[in-house]
Amino acid sequence: MNYISTRGGTTAADHISGAAAIKQGLANDGGLFMPETLPMVSMEEIIALSEKSYPERAAAILGKFLDDYPADELLSYCRAAYAEDRFPGGAAPLHKLNDTVSVMELWHGPTCAFKDMALQIMPKLLSGALRLTGEKRRAFILVATSGDTGKAALEGYADVDQVGIMVYYPVDGVSRMQKLQMATQEGSNVNVCAIRGNFDDAQTGVKRIFSDPTAAEALAENGCFFSSANSINWGRLVPQVAYYFSAYCDLLAQGEIEPGEEINVSVPTGNFGNIFAGYLAKEMGLPVKRFLCASNKNNILTDFLNTGVYDRNRDFYTTMSPSMDILISSNLERLLYLKTGCEKTAAYMKALNECGRYEIDAATKASIDADFTGYYCDEEGTAEVIRRTFADYHYVVDPHTAVGLSAAEQYIAATGDTTKTVVDSTASPYKFASNVCRALTGNAPEDEFDALCLLSNVTGTEIPAPLASLRTKAVRFERVIDPADMRAETLKVSETL
Ligand SMILES: *Cc1c(COP(=O)(O)O)cnc(C)c1O
Repeated sequence: MNYISTRGGTTAADHISGAAAIKQGLANDGGLFMPETLPMVSMEEIIALSEKSYPERAAAILGKFLDDYPADELLSYCRAAYAEDRFPGGAAPLHKLNDTVSVMELWHGPTCAFKDMALQIMPKLLSGALRLTGEKRRAFILVATSGDTGKAALEGYADVDQVGIMVYYPVDGVSRMQKLQMATQEGSNVNVCAIRGNFDDAQTGVKRIFSDPTAAEALAENGCFFSSANSINWGRLVPQVAYYFSAYCDLLAQGEIEPGEEINVSVPTGNFGNIFAGYLAKEMGLPVKRFLCASNKNNILTDFLNTGVYDRNRDFYTTMSPSMDILISSNLERLLYLKTGCEKTAAYMKALNECGRYEIDAATKASIDADFTGYYCDEEGTAEVIRRTFADYHYVVDPHTAVGLSAAEQYIAATGDTTKTVVDSTASPYKFASNVCRALTGNAPEDEFDALCLLSNVTGTEIPAPLASLRTKAVRFERVIDPADMRAETLKVSETL
């Protein structure tokens, strides 16, 4: 199966294998890679998968897209990535909340957020890609993070052969827990550096290095090439398709649904990656009636779905669900490509670059309306859902998950639709312990570790081991630099990793 750009690159070099797409990250014309055709999964296959383990389900879905990788290799990647010691409690277990709603817990991995679902396996896909494409240089992964991606990428790529990784984060733009998670990262091929500035400064600095030919030349002299771990990379997206099939399999196995019965899916959304992976599953044959696109106070996607206008010229809010504080949802480009084709997509993206705004035509809007509804939830609403979910169901959710639950509640209240609904839970509540404590008890300790203990006492749940152990881990990375020095720092580090 070959991959092409959402913006329509037409030369032979624009039709490349899955391995090449994962290695390259972004298409030559600035677009995102998509498979030329979508593979299908029949209901018989889904029923058969419902008797399999998560790694077997994931390998079956990955194999449909990555037919250039040997099938037994994909299965061994999945067995290693989603093993019980990496995901204690299971990779994507369902927690039944009530007769309509089940929560899919995607945060049992090593960094306690759903990004582990992709970033535990993506390094294996990249290593495989280096071999399959005969690449002898080292991949040097450069990441700008507002918190969760950086740690999940470090944890995934630590000590992977022929790869080095460098993560930049804004010095005052991540939580103390997130900072500690990154600063204590182990591994001989990892480096972490804070920058004086905000996330946009970090992101801009990284993009500048990626598109600087002299930086690429300097890196080549060290025997390396740049690669990315962001959700624009196909290798990040394809592992996420698998858990939508897995959720359906679990509902079948539990007798919650009959084969072929439709479900609804609610996804707390930032970059539109996770929800788009769900939509791909639907296009491949998974019976999904409606996707609920859940946003926090940064409700640019809610407005887009309601009006057909995407306009990033608006205020940016810092919320208690920081991984969704995003004004450019990169993966929306892939949905536009599927709905309208590459020509219109290229035009919309050009308008977004030049004016920060685009408006889709009526036919495209109608087509998107058929699958998606947008809802948002402000800060008080988020705290209220955390509090009420615990009061009603004795179940603790993090602020991102609360936004997803709110969308499901709003949709059900508005429509009366009692179709079985899966809500993605994207982070452990302990990752955002002080805000969850404040929502549940009205106040929160100053110290983040005290907040972990309080949350555990109040809810009778256990602190995840990877967070509890941070208190005693040695800090390895304390450097803080100016954004202007990122290029020099990156090249210096590339010589050592
Ligand atoms: C990254 C992230 C999201 C948003 O996922 P997208 O794929 O960017 O839409 C939601 N919740 C948490 C906890 C995250 O880390």
